[in-house]
Amino acid sequence: MTETTSNTTECNLVIVGSGPAGLTAAIYAARAQLEPILLEGSVTAGGALMNTTEVENFPGFPEGIQGPELMMNLRAQAERFGVRIVTDDAVELDLTGDIKVIKDGEGREYRSPAVILSMGARYRELGIPGEKELSGHGVSWCATCDGFFFKDQNIVVVGGGDSAMEEATFLTRFANKVTLIHRRDEFRASKIMVERALNDPKIDVIYDTAVTEATGDGKLSTLKLKNLKTDEESELEATGLFIAIGHDPSSELVKGQVDTNEEGYVAVQGRSQRTNLDGVFACGDLVDFTYRQAITAAGSGCAAALDAERWLADRES
Ligand code: NAP
Repeated sequence: MTETTSNTTECNLVIVGSGPAGLTAAIYAARAQLEPILLEGSVTAGGALMNTTEVENFPGFPEGIQGPELMMNLRAQAERFGVRIVTDDAVELDLTGDIKVIKDGEGREYRSPAVILSMGARYRELGIPGEKELSGHGVSWCATCDGFFFKDQNIVVVGGGDSAMEEATFLTRFANKVTLIHRRDEFRASKIMVERALNDPKIDVIYDTAVTEATGDGKLSTLKLKNLKTDEESELEATGLFIAIGHDPSSELVKGQVDTNEEGYVAVQGRSQRTNLDGVFACGDLVDFTYRQAITAAGSGCAAALDAERWLADRES
């Protein structure tokens, strides 16, 4: 059932977001003949993997695959099963009624009993010169994805939370040396993770310090640092900069409607992708602050589609 009249489309299911979670949900929903509509976003279509280079850990690609190519494949697979893909952002969602109403940037309206939220999360950026330019050329936000490319190199990790500890410890497998740089003299990370990092002979720590600039000729080579207590400036040679200062889930549009945790991640119930709202499901990095991998996002997208399919079937019976 999909009907469009003037600016309004009525359908069974709308999926918001087109990372691995949203597209996998779309593939499953389309194969279940739910005729889903997927709002893929305008500039953000494809999600975080569009800014990644080689993905070596997505099962099924023994030689690895470029992030954008993986996303184009997923998109093509969704289209093959008839998913209607709208290249626009969802700008307004009303999820409270029996029929959910989603508006896009062109003022078009989509009305459906079921919605899958898969808007993802954004890595926090430092906002320093050179960060964007050298992203993918030494600057990274994901040790699991990129650590392997930094064998025997000197790497800097910025942050003082569990992510920074985890990334620093993980990177010692590849790196010659890892320098952990934190803006305060106390870590916010859990004790056990701090201890593991501090006891690692490959990890050095610089406290009370900010990275103020990333420089290099097409590839990161030097970081500019500033001691925040003394204002003293210095330089550090490094070919890798891993920024681990937290994530922000893209849940702004649904805040106040679906339950979220303190950090804004959408809450799902038990081993399901159901939210507290009937007919509203969520998946991918929008709900996941633990694993944050393309494959786990895809898996949760599959689960969200199966949950939505069952929910729609129960509703009709
Ligand atoms: P987080 O706990 O919010 O820590 C972010 C860290 O980055 C903080 O130390 C913060 O400094 C620093 N920071 C923030 N903005 C900065 C900036 N502009 N410049 C420099 N430093 C900045 O984030 P997270 O480490 O990603 O963890 C998020 C959640 O996931 C936490 O609940 C964490 O426990 C959980 N997590 C768990 C595991 C695990 O259990 N295996 C692994 C990873 C994450 P300040 O301390 O000065 O604020």
